[in-house]
Amino acid sequence: MKAIIIGSGIGGLGAAVRLRLQGYEVEVFEKASGPGGKLREIRSNGFRWDAGPSLFTMPQYVEELFELAGKRAEDHFQFTQLPVITNYFYEDGTRIHAYSDPEKFAEEIEAKTSEPANRVRKQLEKSKKLYDITNHVFLERSLHKLSTYLKMDTMVSIARLPEINAFQTMNGANERRFDDPRVVQLFNRYATYNGSDPYQAPATLNIIPHLEFGIGAYFPVGGMYAITQAVYGLGKDLGVTYHFDAPVDRILHENGRATGIVSQGTDHHADVIVSNADVVPTYRHLLPDVTAPDKTLQQPRSSSALIFYWGIRQEFPELDVHNIFFSDDYQREFEQIWKEKVPGEDPTVYINITSKENPDDAPKGGENWFVMINVPSNTGQDWDQFIETSRERILDKLERMLGKEIRPHLVTEDILDPRTIESRTSSYQGALYGSSSNNTFAAFLRHPNFTRRMKGLYFCGGSVHPGGGIPLALLSAKIMAACVEEDRGER
Ligand code: FAD
Repeated sequence: MKAIIIGSGIGGLGAAVRLRLQGYEVEVFEKASGPGGKLREIRSNGFRWDAGPSLFTMPQYVEELFELAGKRAEDHFQFTQLPVITNYFYEDGTRIHAYSDPEKFAEEIEAKTSEPANRVRKQLEKSKKLYDITNHVFLERSLHKLSTYLKMDTMVSIARLPEINAFQTMNGANERRFDDPRVVQLFNRYATYNGSDPYQAPATLNIIPHLEFGIGAYFPVGGMYAITQAVYGLGKDLGVTYHFDAPVDRILHENGRATGIVSQGTDHHADVIVSNADVVPTYRHLLPDVTAPDKTLQQPRSSSALIFYWGIRQEFPELDVHNIFFSDDYQREFEQIWKEKVPGEDPTVYINITSKENPDDAPKGGENWFVMINVPSNTGQDWDQFIETSRERILDKLERMLGKEIRPHLVTEDILDPRTIESRTSSYQGALYGSSSNNTFAAFLRHPNFTRRMKGLYFCGGSVHPGGGIPLALLSAKIMAACVEEDRGER
C-alpha cells in the first residue's frame, strides 16, 4: 500500500511518520527546496532566525512520534523549559515577568498590578478545567466521525460543555475576573495564539494559558527549526521518500476515489493521498473539477503577521527570549486588524531573541531579533506602504519604551509579510493559522481530516481540524492517520 503526502509542513512530516509506521510506502512531494513550511529557518550575515513559530508548547506530540517508532525521543530531540515565558512591557513603564512557575507568576502579578494573586490562580485553574473538558473532544479526535461521540470520555465532556463559556467573549470573561486593564490585556493576548480576536472569540480560548503554565513553554535545543529537523530525520530513518522542488499540480481521481497526483508533468499513483497544503488551494487548484465545500472554504481567515528579522550588533540585557511591547489601546488595534483590515497604528510588538538561549544564532556581542506585529490576512492591502510605516512605528515604540537607541545597531534585515507567507507556503491569504476561531462554532466549521466527497483523500495541517499551531498541526496528522486506519478495511 502506498501513500502520497502533498507538503512537508510539520503536519505533513508528522503524517509521513505515522503512515509509514502503519505500513505504507510513503512519498512526500514538497514545492519548496526543503522541509518545514512555516517552521523553517533563515540565515544571513552570521545570524540565524526561526522563520515562523517561536513558542513551543505540548512537546509530547513530537515525542510521541519517536515513541511510536520505538526510539527514545531524547536521543534525537532535546528541549528546555523556559523559566520566564514572556517579558511584558507596558507604555506606563510596568514590566511583568510571566514566570513559568504559576505561583511565582501569580505573585508577580500581585506585586506589579492591583490584582490579588488569588485571581490569577483562579484564572489558571479555570484554564486547566477548560483543557480537561475540551481536549478529548476538540483536539484529539475527529469531530466528524460518529465513533468519537460514542466514546465514554467524549460523552462526559459533552455533558460538561455548558461550562466552557462558549457564548461569552474572551475579553468579557477576563474583564469579569480582573479589574486591572493590564492583566486583562495580558490574558486577552492568548487569542492571538491561533490568530483570533479576544473581543470576538469565545472565552473557551482561555484554555491556552494552561498550555504554557500547566503543561509548559519550551525551547528546543538548536531553535524551533530543530523540531522540523527531528521529525524529518525520523521519517528519513523510517524510509520515507521526500521530493523537494516538486510542486503538486493536480490530485488525480476516478469514480469518486483519489488515485494519485501530478507533479511536474508526471503522474504518481497511490492508495492514500494526504494534502498538507492549505485546504483552500487544495480544492481550488488541485481539484478544480470537484465541487468544493464552499461554506467551509469561506470561513474568515486567521490573522497574518509582518515580521522583521533584524541582526543587532548590541546586547540588550533587559530583554529575554520572548518579549511583548503592548499597544496602549489593544481594542483599537484589534478593530483595525479585524474590521478595517489594516495593521494597527500602535501595534503590539513581539520580539523573540533565540540567541539568548542559543548563542550561535548571532555573532558575539550581537542578538538575532525576530520582530513581529499582528496584521490582517492579505486581501490586497498596500503592504509596501504598511511595511515602511510599520517599521518606523515599531522602531519609535521600542526606542521610547526601552529608553535606548536601536537604529544605529541594526546591521541586517529580512522581511516576511502576508504576501510572502502566501507565496512561500501556499497559505490562503497568508493566514498563519487557517481559519480564525472568532466564531463560537469555528471548531465545527473547520474542514475535517477526510472528505466524504472523495474516498482515499485526507487532510492534515493548520487549515483543517483541529486547527493551527505546531501541536495542533501534529494532532491533525494523528487524527488523519486514525481515519486512514479506520477506512483501511474498505480498500
Ligand atoms: P505549513 O507550514 O503551512 O506547510 C505547508 C507545506 O505545504 C509548505 O511547505 C508548502 O510549500 C507545501 N505545499 C503547499 N502546496 C503545495 C503543492 N501544491 N505542492 C507541494 N507542496 C505544497 N505556531 C506555534 O505553535 N507557535 C508559534 O509561536 C507560532 N508562531 C507563528 C508565527 C509565524 C510568523 C507563522 C508564519 C506561524 C506561526 N505559528 C505558530 C503557526 C505554525 O507555524 C503553523 O500552524 C504550522 O507550522 C503549520 O503547519 P502545516 O502542517 O499546516 O504546514
